[in-house]
This record gives sequence, structure tokens and C-alpha cells, in this order.
Amino acid sequence: MRTISILGATGSIGASTLDLIRRNRDAWRVVALTANGNAAELARLAREFGVEMAVVADETRLPELREALAGSGIAAAGGVEGLCAAAAAGADMTVAAIVGCAGLAPTMAAIEQGKTVALANKEALVSAGDVMMAAVERYGATLLPLDSEHNAIFQCLGANAPTDVRRITLTASGGPFRTWTQEQLDAATPAQAVKHPNWDMGAKISVDSATMFNKGLELIEAWHLFPVGLDRLSIVVHPQSVVHSLVEYRDGSSLAQLGPSDMRVPIASCLAWPQRMDTPMPSLDLAALAELTFFAPDEVRFPATRLAREAAQAGGAAPAVLNAANEIAVAAFLAGQIRFTRIAANVERVLAAGVPSAPSSLDDVLAIDHEARLRARALLEQA
Ligand code: NDP
Repeated sequence: MRTISILGATGSIGASTLDLIRRNRDAWRVVALTANGNAAELARLAREFGVEMAVVADETRLPELREALAGSGIAAAGGVEGLCAAAAAGADMTVAAIVGCAGLAPTMAAIEQGKTVALANKEALVSAGDVMMAAVERYGATLLPLDSEHNAIFQCLGANAPTDVRRITLTASGGPFRTWTQEQLDAATPAQAVKHPNWDMGAKISVDSATMFNKGLELIEAWHLFPVGLDRLSIVVHPQSVVHSLVEYRDGSSLAQLGPSDMRVPIASCLAWPQRMDTPMPSLDLAALAELTFFAPDEVRFPATRLAREAAQAGGAAPAVLNAANEIAVAAFLAGQIRFTRIAANVERVLAAGVPSAPSSLDDVLAIDHEARLRARALLEQA
């Protein structure tokens, strides 16, 4: 039996992970679970899985969590310190599934345990970049990519040398607005943006998928996870989300990973790695799918992938600034404060205002993130 902790247990990735664990109760013991403010759901899950520790990031919800856990013997904690304690609770595997840069400090705390971290929280890697990869190296941690595209690439790479790779292609669904005109994009609402055609995900990543920032963040994520160089990373739009990414080798062979658009497949790949486990997914029916289509991305209507590539090329603090500006813009869009097309425009303006020097520690990254958020918020005032 292996032990596991889940950071972001009440979210979409958290629920999919716990669904798999529920089906394999003999294989896993859950040590710690965390949430932001959803204390009721967290307490319910903590009791169901008999965990040692439950943590709410929002400390104002700690009394509610304590009350909901009364008599259970489960320790309750709050705040970033509590999240980091949950990440350091000694589990064999920690699933990093908090949304946004809020997950960075606990993900780093998990890496410092030198065990296995299954990473969904792409914003943390985008922001911390080399600082996180250096910590993985220093503490001898195993970082497994849980994001479907990166998990696909990880599977296709197998034991092959990065020097044998000619190109890695990330597939993108194109999101709900793939065929929309610029005028339609200007008028897109939050309700329309969170309705993804293929995937059932949290609100933030759904908006990122609609703007294509999700693919931009993933490009930077892939650049850190798979050291083949930025010029060997490409993106193709594939509306059916069946091919999850491809690796092309120097001999002309391309390997792709295919599967249903259900995150339980890449999560199961991480949970069982380096072996395999059962999931409730039906087999792919290629004849029923009949057709898989692919298109070049349109970086005029969707500038996010261009902005992400430019941020990666600029290096240093630029990806952290891009991520922070995007988080603020997405929250403002979801709150009805700005139009959909202002998200990318605001990110571009924050980046154009200048980027600090490269971070060399977690504190540096958090300071850069904080500063970029202030600048992004100031832009919101200038509607
Ligand atoms: P959700 O919004 O569904 O869940 C987010 C989780 O993080 C919840 O448990 C939430 O708690 C918690 N949380 C939110 N804000 C904070 C905070 N400030 N501090 C601590 N915890 C917080 O997100 P998803 O599950 O969709 O995504 C999680 C991560 O996984 C993201 O980085 C996303 O990009 C990535 N990912 C998601 C995929 C998907 O299919 N959903 C696919 C690939 C990657 P509470 O419920 O209390 O608010």
C-alpha cells in the first residue's frame, strides 16, 4: 500500500484522483487533503478517506473545518503554512492540483520531500521554472507530468534520449471559441467561456482553454519538463482531443498518445507509474470517431500562444509575469469586469511594461508574482 496526499482535493483534478483511489482502496492510503475555502466538502472527503490532516488555505474557514471534523481525530490546519505542512506530510506521492501560483509554495514543499510529485498545477512550474526544476534535481524528487499533453509526451518519450527528438507537438482543442470571429470574441461571456466542448474542468483552466493561454502555459511547462529546446516545441489545434500530443524522432517516426478526454487516464498513468492500472474508461472506438482533424493555431484571434513563446524566449521572470497577469485578467473576466479579448491585451501590456531579473529562489518568484499582480490590477482600473 502506498501513501498519497492531494493538494486541491476539492477541485476537478482532486475529484478525478479521489475517484480512482476510491476504486483502489487497497492500493492507497490518503494522508492529507487540502482545499481553499470549501471546508464542508473537504471535511466530507477527509472523513471518507480517513486522512491524518485536512487543510483550508483560507484561514477564515478553519473554524468551520474544525467543527466539521470534530471527534474524527483528523488534524485541521489553515493558511499557506498548513498547505506546506500537508505537502510535507511524508506521502509517497503528492498530487499538486491547486489552481494558480497559489500552489507554488506547497508544490515546492512537496518536492523538498524528495518523493514523487504528480504535477497538474502548471502555473506553479510556469512561474518558478528553473527554480522548481533545480529543486527537483537537488532533492532527488520524481516529477510526473499529470497534465494530459505532458503525460502523453512523457509516455511517448519513454527511455528515448532528448537528442533523438526532432519535434514535440502539443495538441490543443481550440476551446469553445475556436471558430468564432473577432467580433464574437469581443462579446464572449464567462458562461460561454467555461463551457468547454470536450473537457470538464475548473473555471480558470476553462477560460485559459478559451483564450489559448492554457496552451501557452503548457508550452512553457513542456519547455521545462522536456529539455529539447523551445524551437522543437510546436502546437497544433485538434478539436476532437483524442490525440493528446506527439513526439517525432530524428528517424521520421512520430509517436502519439491517444485516449478519451477524461483526466482519469493521465492521472491513472501517474498513480500507477511505472506500471499500469485499470480505469473505468471504455476502449477507444476509432471507427465511431471516424475522423480526426488538425489545424494550425490562429495567433491573431488567439495571441496567447505567441505571448507565451515570447515570454519563454525572453526567459528569466517573463513567464512568471505572464502567468500572474493572466491570473488577474481571468479573475476579472469571470467577475464581469473586463471583456474576453482584454485578457490577452492586458497580459501583453503588463509584459511590455518591463520584466524584473531572473528569480533564483522561491521568495524571488513569489515577489515577482506579487509585483506583476499589482501591475495587472492597476490596468483593470483603466477600463
Ligand atoms: P479547480 O478550480 O476545479 O480546483 C482547484 C482546487 O484548488 C480546489 O481544491 C480549490 O479549493 C483549490 N484552491 C483554489 N484556490 C486556492 C488557493 N488560493 N489556495 C489553495 N488552494 C486553492 O481546478 P482544476 O482541478 O480544474 O485545476 C487544478 C490545476 O490542475 C490547475 O493548475 C489546472 O491548470 C490543472 N489542470 C487541470 C485540468 C482539468 O481537467 N481540470 C487538466 C490539466 C491541468 P476550493 O474548492 O476550496 O476552492
